[in-house]
Amino acid sequence: MNKILIANRGEIALRIMKSAREMGIKTVAVYSDADRNSPHVKYADEAVHLGPAPSAQSYLLGDKIIAACKALNVDGIHPGYGFLSENGAFAQSVEEAGLIFIGPKAHSMKVMGDKLAAKEAARAFDIPLVPGTEGEIDDQEEAIRISKEIGFPVLIKASAGGGGKGMRVVEREEELAEQIESAISEAKSAFGNGAVFIEKYVGSPRHIEVQVLCDSHGNMVHLFERECSVQRRHQKVIEEAPSPIISPELRAKMGQKAVDVARSCDYLGAGTVEFIMDEQHNFYFMEMNTRLQVEHPVTEMITGVDLVKEQIRVARGEEISFKQEDLHIHGHSIEVRVYAEDARSNFMPDIGNLRVYQRPHGVGVRVDDGFEEGMDIPIYYDPMISKLVTHGKDREEARLRMIRAIDDYKIVGLRTTMEFARFVMEHDAFISGNFDTHFVNKHFQPELLDAKSNNNEDVASTIVAKLVADANKKPEVLNDSEGSRSNWKIKRS
Ligand code: ADP
Ligand code: ADP
Ligand code: MG
Repeated sequence: MNKILIANRGEIALRIMKSAREMGIKTVAVYSDADRNSPHVKYADEAVHLGPAPSAQSYLLGDKIIAACKALNVDGIHPGYGFLSENGAFAQSVEEAGLIFIGPKAHSMKVMGDKLAAKEAARAFDIPLVPGTEGEIDDQEEAIRISKEIGFPVLIKASAGGGGKGMRVVEREEELAEQIESAISEAKSAFGNGAVFIEKYVGSPRHIEVQVLCDSHGNMVHLFERECSVQRRHQKVIEEAPSPIISPELRAKMGQKAVDVARSCDYLGAGTVEFIMDEQHNFYFMEMNTRLQVEHPVTEMITGVDLVKEQIRVARGEEISFKQEDLHIHGHSIEVRVYAEDARSNFMPDIGNLRVYQRPHGVGVRVDDGFEEGMDIPIYYDPMISKLVTHGKDREEARLRMIRAIDDYKIVGLRTTMEFARFVMEHDAFISGNFDTHFVNKHFQPELLDAKSNNNEDVASTIVAKLVADANKKPEVLNDSEGSRSNWKIKRS
């Protein structure tokens, strides 16, 4: 493989290009109108314009991407995450065009892309599944009977759902029929597939997932787990590896089950097997993500493995560069997803301009991002600005390092999830490791941020210095009302 095209944008496109470059592989970027001046475009050896900003007219144009590969003599396509990464039909077209898809085969993606098909495959390999309906709900009576059997609350899930969408919790039997109806019509319009099923709503659940890697020589390994229980809207915001509550025995058992899930769909490449765990530490298979995951860096930090390089090796038909017994956990790693979101108003996107953007540095700090100071965060895509990752000799060092890195990271122009992340890092529940996916609902209120934000004088003075120094941009520095300890406020445009 001499040249690969990265069918993605932002931080993940850059991250993939860096590994390719280290392997002596040339890179081709793709971009939409909104990303014309993005770092991923500048970093690549070549770049191809796809179209207007909306994904449907740019990053989702599989045929156009394949045509570009042919024109530029590209050997392989890396899809990153999101966009075309879990599209089996695209993977198939890539192969039919004589190119290498850096990911699993289309049939594995089709099985795991559908939550019901995935459970069906896993059942044959004796993988623990969340109690619920075995297949699509087509009979209300039956659905009610099963729900009563497993006990309320239950969760209605869309088989084709993803990204935390297509789920609803039903507390009482009386609501079930109506909720099923709306879930079906919502799933039809959102995912083009109305299949829904019922799962027991696991109480006090933790989201624990296992990274797997498989090659075409029959080697299948797992790279331990990631704890992803700090979520909002059923979507992760903070992840870590290893999980603070998993014993070596349980780790080995979950790793084995994850490898079995991979085996059940004849998997190739890097993938993630997601489990939900209850208070008694029973774990159940939820779904498999057939791609590189957003939070893969925490696994890289504790294992020393470059997952993108392994993906490329496997796609070239080579063996994985290590064996299961070569892998060990070194220290602890935490990732904060820095989203352009306002934790004070229900984590609503808060896109705008990165007027000041200064990254943290130092021992054990990694920042995966795709923006530079002065850039706008486009409204068209996921509002993630970067991933802030720390590594320490143990969890406490990684945690304290994260607080330091958050304080060193200067972002002005929009609100981000960093303030929330700092709150989590200092919260007793997080420190003790005793938390679940309801962390935000249980422990977080916006007022708790205000109690802390008054001692940000440092940040305020940096901002003011920066804005005043920048003669071209008229500084809009307002004097705050009296009485506040924070004397300066920046008017956001
Ligand atoms: P991960 O699964 O890697 O932990 P996310 O759940 O945030 O992380 O998903 C990764 C990316 O894929 C995000 O950009 C998210 O918006 C996107 N994504 C995942 N599933 C879907 C889906 N069904 N429809 C649209 N986008 C999705
Ligand atoms: P998606 O494809 O959107 O990622 P998942 O099945 O992975 O869907 O579920 C996303 C999140 O929803 C999980 O991380 C967890 O927080 C919550 N969840 C899913 N299934 C259950 C369940 N049976 N009980 C409780 N919470 C669940
Ligand atoms: Mg999931």
